[in-house]
Amino acid sequence: MRYISTRGAAPALDFEGATLAGLASDGGLYLPESWPRFSHEDIAALAGLSYAETAVRVLAPFVGDTLSETELRALCERAYVRFSHAAVAPLVQLDHRHWLLELFHGPTLAFKDIALQLLGPLFEHFLGSRDTHLTVIGATSGDTGSAAIDALAGRDKLDIFMLHPRGRVSEVQRRQMTTVLAPNVHNIAIEGDFDDAQRLVKAMFNHADFAGRFVLSAVNSINWARLAAQIVYYFYAAVRLGAPERRIAFSVPTGNFGDVFAGYAARAMGLPVERLIVATNVNDILHRTLTSGDYSVGALTVTAAPSMDIQVSSNFERLLFDLHGRDGAALAAAMRGFESTRALSLSDKLRAPLAGVFTSARVDPDEQALAMRHACERFGQVIDPHTAIGLAAALAADLPADTPVVTLATAHPAKFREAVERATGHRPTLPARLAGLFEREERYDTLPAELDAIEAYVAERAAAR
Ligand SMILES: *Cc1c(COP(=O)(O)O)cnc(C)c1O
Repeated sequence: MRYISTRGAAPALDFEGATLAGLASDGGLYLPESWPRFSHEDIAALAGLSYAETAVRVLAPFVGDTLSETELRALCERAYVRFSHAAVAPLVQLDHRHWLLELFHGPTLAFKDIALQLLGPLFEHFLGSRDTHLTVIGATSGDTGSAAIDALAGRDKLDIFMLHPRGRVSEVQRRQMTTVLAPNVHNIAIEGDFDDAQRLVKAMFNHADFAGRFVLSAVNSINWARLAAQIVYYFYAAVRLGAPERRIAFSVPTGNFGDVFAGYAARAMGLPVERLIVATNVNDILHRTLTSGDYSVGALTVTAAPSMDIQVSSNFERLLFDLHGRDGAALAAAMRGFESTRALSLSDKLRAPLAGVFTSARVDPDEQALAMRHACERFGQVIDPHTAIGLAAALAADLPADTPVVTLATAHPAKFREAVERATGHRPTLPARLAGLFEREERYDTLPAELDAIEAYVAERAAAR
């Protein structure tokens, strides 16, 4: 399997190369040259398999010959042993057709663990035979940071630098990052918002003089391996609810368009996905784009779902690549326009292929709080503010009445205790694995949202090429 850049000017790489690179050298994102196809029989054969074994089957075509099946199986088994639920990603039934897919049983209590617990061992495996020291740089609105740090702390041959927007992540999220004192972990609080952090990370990758001095890699969902790992749970859940015989809809609380793009990939691979519901909060660029073609950056609003407080959704570029007929040069031109004007207008014609694949919803803070209360009172489930946005969108969606609808439960409610308590009156208790979090020593540095300052900080601490 070869991976090509959405902007058409970077070399094609294999899975190992694309995983270690993260971002393509032309500023684009890597995508498989073509989607592997799973037949009806291939999907039926996933019935009853464990999560790790499902991952082996789904990931095998993406990995190609960069890992043997034995190596892939060992990595998948190792990735999911630290999950606190034996099913890894259990389905919880709400009523006759609504389900939650709980993706938060990993070490840092958000769905990001599902991909990052695999990415850690993958990095280590691919670096194992090389004389390379990797410098991983990432931006986080809260959950990627803690999941990536947990997955990479203490590993040889790499350092991780994680930028988070100062004061805009929850205290649990911050402490999950800053109390990891391993010497290869470097936490930076930047004086700005998440979009600033993400822009700074991209700028470092695209700054040839800086990037050339290190072997840089990314752990954000711009890294293809992360999205590949997330495709697995769409198959896992759908098969449990009757695929390939039945079509299943998914409601996905969306920020960077990574998680829902994994659902799009699953559909392209042959999974019978009835619809993907793109659920946004009031930072609704994706809802505007899907309903009216208006991909323009507005002002960021801070909400109770910080991991979705995003205006520029990096992974949307992967979908745009398909909409532009996989023409890298055309997309590169469109993205250059977007980067200078902060707006892109998608014609009805360009968006036509999306009808029947995606629907979208914008959920405001009142509807979000109502969904949390509703989940408690009607379904007996305490859910987090991100999941609430997905559930609100799922309950409102116009879908065939016999279609099962799965809402991705992306974070444990204890990660966002204040918001959950405000909405429901229940204060979720911290799981035992986080005991002592509030007593532990924290370590991080605060820097302005300026490229020079961040680059100087990284250069002082990272290993030269
Ligand atoms: C990251 C995150 C999201 C958004 O996922 P994307 O892949 O960025 O769309 C939603 N909910 C939670 C809890 C998250 O951590």
